[in-house]
Amino acid sequence: MTVKKDYYEILGVPKNASQKEIEEVYRRLAIQYHPDRHPPEKKDEMREKFKEISEAYAILSDPKKRKQYDMYGHAGIDSSYTAEDIFSGVDFSSVFRDIGDFGSVFEDLFDFFGVREKKRGPQRGADLEVPLNITLEEAFHGTEKPLSFYHTVICPVCKGSGAKLGSSKKVCPKCKGSGSINYSRGFFSIRETCPRCRGKGEVVDIPCDKCGGTGKIKQQENIVVKIPAGVDNGTSIRIKGKGEAGTEGAPSGDLYVSIRIQPHSIFVRQGDDLVSKIEIPYPIAVLGGEVEVPTIEGSKIKISIPSGTQPKKVFRVKSKGMPDLHTGKRGDLYIEIEIQIPTKLDEKQKRALKEYAKTLGIDI
Ligand SMILES: [Zn+2]
Ligand SMILES: [Zn+2]
Repeated sequence: MTVKKDYYEILGVPKNASQKEIEEVYRRLAIQYHPDRHPPEKKDEMREKFKEISEAYAILSDPKKRKQYDMYGHAGIDSSYTAEDIFSGVDFSSVFRDIGDFGSVFEDLFDFFGVREKKRGPQRGADLEVPLNITLEEAFHGTEKPLSFYHTVICPVCKGSGAKLGSSKKVCPKCKGSGSINYSRGFFSIRETCPRCRGKGEVVDIPCDKCGGTGKIKQQENIVVKIPAGVDNGTSIRIKGKGEAGTEGAPSGDLYVSIRIQPHSIFVRQGDDLVSKIEIPYPIAVLGGEVEVPTIEGSKIKISIPSGTQPKKVFRVKSKGMPDLHTGKRGDLYIEIEIQIPTKLDEKQKRALKEYAKTLGIDI
């Protein structure tokens, strides 16, 4: 098996490239690799290159697919999208609007990926991503959270056929059953999936009242999401089969619950470690002593402050951070010291402090 190249590397763009950069680079490379611009013996090689950059562009120009690729790599794309899904929604014509005829090379490309053929068969439903807010404490302990979201399901009335009960399907009048139509814009011409029948070649005669002929309806779903201890911002929890409905009996896509952790009043998370700040009284910083600090468990622990502790000094308490999502091993707690400067002193305290100042040769 050949290892698939990284999409960013293929286009030669950085991981944080903007959509505009990606489009510009793709446009430049597409012109460079266009098989018709090369001698016959080079055409095959260029065609492969062209396919490669077009696939990379199709993924990286789609924010959802790009995110999935960033998180899960090729495996994330391969498990979620068919070759056809990869190219669906990519408007190549807008990329090449001022350039001559790119049509034939795209036809090659779509033939290569089997796009037109696949359009007719059952299609797995799209994946869905829904954000879910939790607190840092919930991320620490793990929790179960109710989640309400909308997704498409197979229409219960027509069972997904889209046809009104008792009516049947007929040959699509727009594409005459071929499933595709030729589309042209200036010099640019490609064959596209028929928008009327979406490549199926047939349409319903009388549409189902419930779903309007689409075979699917949007429906609210209420589920309880089990959130394991140790999740972090951006952790994605996959719930199989709760995405959008598939067509013609194909399975639904998956639901990805994207965890968002609300900012905490005490702790800042850094990987599995937690960072907090505490203020200690000036005499304890000078003379040393013990102070209590809060932990993410909600309890307090004592830490000892050595004499002469300076502001910004950081103490580490081992294994009082967040649990690792996979191993459960806890990170550490880092405590940064701030020193309280008293703002209100009574006469007795002022006298004592002045006495002390005198010993340093400071006359107040
Ligand atoms: Zn229906
Ligand atoms: Zn059609």
